[in-house]
Amino acid sequence: MRENLQNIQIQALASFSTEKVAVDILRLDLIHPVVSGNKWFKLQYYLAEALELGKTSVATFGGAYSNHILATAFAASESGFQSLGLIRGEPPEMLSPTLQEAAGYGMQLVFIDRNAYRDKETLRKKWDLPGRYWIMEGGYGFTGARGAGDILTIFDTTAYSHILCAVGTGTMLAGLVNAAQPGQQVLGISVLKNQATLAEEVRYLLRNIQMKKKVILNHAYHFGGYAKQTNALFDFMKELWNTEGLPTDIVYTSKLLYAARDLVSKDYFPAGSRVLIIHSGGLQGNRSLPIGKLPF
Ligand SMILES: *Cc1c(COP(=O)(O)O)cnc(C)c1O
Repeated sequence: MRENLQNIQIQALASFSTEKVAVDILRLDLIHPVVSGNKWFKLQYYLAEALELGKTSVATFGGAYSNHILATAFAASESGFQSLGLIRGEPPEMLSPTLQEAAGYGMQLVFIDRNAYRDKETLRKKWDLPGRYWIMEGGYGFTGARGAGDILTIFDTTAYSHILCAVGTGTMLAGLVNAAQPGQQVLGISVLKNQATLAEEVRYLLRNIQMKKKVILNHAYHFGGYAKQTNALFDFMKELWNTEGLPTDIVYTSKLLYAARDLVSKDYFPAGSRVLIIHSGGLQGNRSLPIGKLPF
């Protein structure tokens, strides 16, 4: 997987930039067709720790289209671990493409009804085994944040004034804040609605008190909530594809890009800003849509 990092590019977004503000995007979606984006970064040190501890199996949680489940299945098999995915919801008649692929990488899938799924501690005890290493849902945690910080080391990103990313668990945002230069502002666009505890969860992962001041979380672009879409969002995704050749996913990056363009047009960024958007991948999740819904 490490050799795939060579696929990553920085792309200038001409249709976003103005005379005052330059906007670029870091294309982590180019890493790998299915295991793209931030998930491999977040997983890398968890798996290194599991190896060090002599574990033989990795277990985690997620939904039927989860990028985290698929990335864990892939990364576990690549590192020689067995893997277990506890999947939210009743067993479906047919597995989603995401879960079929995860199973193809050898992941054992167990479906957990929505009530039981909320109580991760109980599930963890029930499904624990000697040699099993547990990773939290979405890769949340210090070790995940440390891995996400490496996103800023692929290229020299020190000259950017602002870094923008999508926020689910907030692990990537925390990692970027920890790794950012002192003068850089890191702005997270939340894709969740009414997530009152998110700021606290991000702050918990920050390295020191000083850092705790630097997090900016924006809650204005969730489009109705997690994995919710509107026609305006689909139109925007098509336009982005036609003008910039940029594919986005319906859960995270389309909302992030929409926010970025809107904030530029509202003069959020001072003149002279250089903005770097993190394309955190996740395109495989678009397979939850009917075929033909998107042109990519
Ligand atoms: C998981 C994911 C995120 C959110 O990352 P967190 O660290 O959970 O905040 C953003 N974008 C994509 C494409 C993802 O798959």
